[in-house]
Amino acid sequence: MIEFTPHSTPKNTGWIEVIAGCMFSGKTEELIRRLRRAKIARLNTKIFKPKIDNRYSSNDIVSHSEQSLPSILVDSPQEILLFSEDAQVIGIDEAQFFNNELVEVCNTLANQGKRIIIAGLDQDYRGIPFEPMPQLLAVAEYITKTLAICVVCGNPADKTQRKIVSTERVLVGASDSYEARCRKCHYIPE
Ligand code: ZN
Repeated sequence: MIEFTPHSTPKNTGWIEVIAGCMFSGKTEELIRRLRRAKIARLNTKIFKPKIDNRYSSNDIVSHSEQSLPSILVDSPQEILLFSEDAQVIGIDEAQFFNNELVEVCNTLANQGKRIIIAGLDQDYRGIPFEPMPQLLAVAEYITKTLAICVVCGNPADKTQRKIVSTERVLVGASDSYEARCRKCHYIPE
């Protein structure tokens, strides 16, 4: 696991951390690890995820290794603003399923002095950057790219290979239709 090690923790200001990678790279696991540590530090934490993602359980963020934390399901980034007033640390999972308003919302919250930790898929199944992740990566102070292991050759993998043919950008709750692949072994099914 990649360690999040800023040279020093910012004081009297907010900031944005982005955890980006393909499926099965441990993004949610890393998000949960950081949020658990914030809770141990007795910081008021809030966790959000988009309503589109109903796998495993409706109100928790759950990693593939089955760690979980309770979260608030929201329809839009604006709802995150409404629920975050008293939060000091805000986690957002599956950020690629939100629209581009998420960028402004995260900037607003960070400007209020809050720590924002965002996890999401940085590319879709074709390897195309998945909005709003590119924009979030651009405005973040801290970026972690999580790599998976290519199931074909064992190299570090940053692509999500779709194993079935579909032109939909998102197949919700179909994680068994995907696997991690490296650049060399990834292809677009058609
Ligand atoms: Zn490979």
